[in-house]
Amino acid sequence: MPKDNTSRRDPRYDVLFEPVRIGPVVAKNRFYQVPHCNGGGYRDPSAVVEMRRTKAEGGWGVIFTEQVELHPTSEITPFIELRLWEDKDIPALARMAEAMKSHGALAGIELAYSGVNGSNLYTREVPRGPMSSPILTFYKDPVSTRAMDRQDIRDLRRWHVEAYRRAKTAGFDVIELYGAHGFGIVQHFLSPLTNQRTDEYGGSLENRSRLLRELISEAKDAVGDTMAVGLRLSLHEAGGLENRELRDLIAMHGDLPDLWDLGHGTWEACSGPSRFVEEGAQEPLVSGIKALTTKPVVGVGRFTSPDAMVSQIRRGVLDFIGAARPSIADPFLPRKIDEGRVEDIRECIGCNICVTGDMTMSISRCTQNPTFMEEWRKGWHPERMNDKGASGTVLVIGAGPAGLEAARAAGRRGYEVALAEAGTELGGRVRLESRLPGLAAWGRVRDYRAHQIGQMANVSTYFDSRLSAQEVLEFGFEHVAVATGSVWRRDGVARHNLAPIPVDPAMPVFTPDDLMAGRLPEGREIVLYDDDHYYMGGVLAELLVQKGAAVTLVTPANLVSEWTLNTLEQRRIQARMIERGVTIVTAHGLSTVGRDGVTLGCAFTGRPRALACDAVVLVTARLPDDALWHALKAREGEWAAAGIRTVRRIGDAESPAPIAWATYAGHRFARELDSVTAEGALAFRREVTELGPME
Ligand code: ADP
Ligand code: SF4
Repeated sequence: MPKDNTSRRDPRYDVLFEPVRIGPVVAKNRFYQVPHCNGGGYRDPSAVVEMRRTKAEGGWGVIFTEQVELHPTSEITPFIELRLWEDKDIPALARMAEAMKSHGALAGIELAYSGVNGSNLYTREVPRGPMSSPILTFYKDPVSTRAMDRQDIRDLRRWHVEAYRRAKTAGFDVIELYGAHGFGIVQHFLSPLTNQRTDEYGGSLENRSRLLRELISEAKDAVGDTMAVGLRLSLHEAGGLENRELRDLIAMHGDLPDLWDLGHGTWEACSGPSRFVEEGAQEPLVSGIKALTTKPVVGVGRFTSPDAMVSQIRRGVLDFIGAARPSIADPFLPRKIDEGRVEDIRECIGCNICVTGDMTMSISRCTQNPTFMEEWRKGWHPERMNDKGASGTVLVIGAGPAGLEAARAAGRRGYEVALAEAGTELGGRVRLESRLPGLAAWGRVRDYRAHQIGQMANVSTYFDSRLSAQEVLEFGFEHVAVATGSVWRRDGVARHNLAPIPVDPAMPVFTPDDLMAGRLPEGREIVLYDDDHYYMGGVLAELLVQKGAAVTLVTPANLVSEWTLNTLEQRRIQARMIERGVTIVTAHGLSTVGRDGVTLGCAFTGRPRALACDAVVLVTARLPDDALWHALKAREGEWAAAGIRTVRRIGDAESPAPIAWATYAGHRFARELDSVTAEGALAFRREVTELGPME
């Protein structure tokens, strides 16, 4: 595409901005936002619409919905996606398509019939699949599919045609049939694991792909004159439709769909976290597939580097750069490349906190982009701040994720900002955590903000500045954010033990703060007790093993790092522990720490168990480092005379939580400077129909 006068992009990246034909439609560039969930779906339609509109403004060439359930005989309650069950669903989706197309992108809809992945807990319809089999959902619901007979298959095809027509009426340009991640009926029929039929729909690859052929040719007949019809498939299903057979399938049907959207395998594999998976990791699986088809190929890989993207195109691996998480962390990624502002890209850190919104049926958050899913609820835009208010000066104390984001965002609003940090470097906890095994990419939280702050003349950073309340009062900034972080507890308190446990002072006890500061246990036999359940326990176990320790990881949960089920990391973490030789003791709480070892208690029976060790690492709870806040609060009567209008504590200093909570708190602090929320008013907009709230 010829560059317009405003484009200052590096000519190396021109190839990313070439238009690409997809069947009857043309994408304006190669940036393809693949379908992704957001925890909002049908419950929060306006939030989802504005989130997608922001991506349109950010320059994506193709923008997709999350999965859209096409018929009530297959739905995935309690997960919240979109629905196109009847004509009544068209208006909400029409709003979505309009938003997606508002800046020239193609609007894509991912149609899903969930088959063995849908228990139908809401509709109470009997689930259907290629054969009778247990439902394979996350919750292992104790229900089964009914094996579809020929009439069922005819019904399924008819329902698809109805959905195609509704999608067209809603204004979409591209349909993708969902057959990836084990979540769609197309894959269930293709896979020899979920399809062991003996009729013309089972057996050979030709037979297993019969349904796919029918669905696509009927889509082409129904809407193919104006809409593109693509297939979203997994590149490799272990023991099922493996990569070799997928290639046979594409060789057999290369030109049947208008596009092949190919994702790694399971969702865990496809959304691989940075701790375990590099950028562009699916390349060996997708490489060479373009030679099997004349139709464009989309692939993902947590691409945030334009050079890596160009390399994929130039080497003929992909036609489109597919992205979900990079588009969440920075909806303006394509535009920044186009405008020659590559250094302004807010790179995804691969933490998968966004996924937890879907897994917990809440609204998704992003560690890097605190405005994600708040575009409508709060009117937050990822690139534009609200105008500056009446006051002028802001002091931010602490340069962790909360303080950095507060300083960046307040600076963008035009305030005179001083950022005071006790240490000599930016980043707070991410500075330390990004040095731990596998967490290097987390440093991007600091790097992006450090760069942005460095560009602003109105933001000054002061190191070696551990401020006291007296100093804060003397400085007299109008607004003060106390972002002083948190400390890990040393007394065993977290979820299992709500009160401190007996600890013999003869036993060396360490916390994550100690280990991150380089204070490591000297003995060989280490008990690491994890009652935090997120990443820290597993990461520190890895660190200790690297240093030559024999580690026993004890947790009251049934799984190692149990909360990481929500970030799709749990299986990998537990596997890593096993592979590294860590001894795992699950379902045991820590009762006492003695001079020669620890006493554990079975989480179910309470039965005690002794474990000898040389040192104990406690990964339990954190406490706010809020001494400064309390000292300031105690002198509230002096604030006005000092010129201080507000003092707020934010991030971990208020309530320890994951990094995403801290960047959100920092952003919110900056947004709300000089604004007053009326008493009783909600801090965000809520979806309300004439009958009441949607939730
Ligand atoms: P959060 O996740 O909430 O941003 P962090 O723990 O990452 O919190 O960061 C807190 C930062 O605050 C650390 O870099 C720490 O050095 C700094 N800090 C703590 N107390 C003070 C203080 N009194 N004055 C200035 N900086 C402080
Ligand atoms: Fe990337 Fe983490 Fe944001 Fe998800 S939450 S988009 S993984 S930075």
